[in-house]
Amino acid sequence: MGEVPAATGDHHLKTELAPGISPTTTVYKGLRVRPGKEVRMTLTDDPHLSMVRPVEPQTPEGCAECLPTGSPWVHLRLCMTCGHVGCCEASPNRHARLHAHALGHPIVQSFQSGEDWRWCYVDEALV
Ligand SMILES: [Zn+2]
Ligand SMILES: [Zn+2]
Ligand SMILES: [Zn+2]
Repeated sequence: MGEVPAATGDHHLKTELAPGISPTTTVYKGLRVRPGKEVRMTLTDDPHLSMVRPVEPQTPEGCAECLPTGSPWVHLRLCMTCGHVGCCEASPNRHARLHAHALGHPIVQSFQSGEDWRWCYVDEALV
């Protein structure tokens, strides 16, 4: 007739699995992609549009940071707040993005002739 000692640290590990139940929600970067439709995410009422000013390009000949160092760029972006010209995401230095985050100037416009779209670096969307 042994006494049963007080059970301490007696953990019952349950290893039950619920078959067939698994999270099936698929969210791709918060975007709901509709099949068969062209995805062109455009914000029409981006609050950062208030940062847009009538600007003149400060360095129309190229990226403001790449020019002094002789670095190459692929495309150019024009800051819509101060007129800074920076290089694009495909360029090695991505000065347009650096400028947008460093100075809080979120909206850029394409500086390529024939392109007139605007991009918000905060929302990562066309505006
Ligand atoms: Zn924005
Ligand atoms: Zn650059
Ligand atoms: Zn700027």
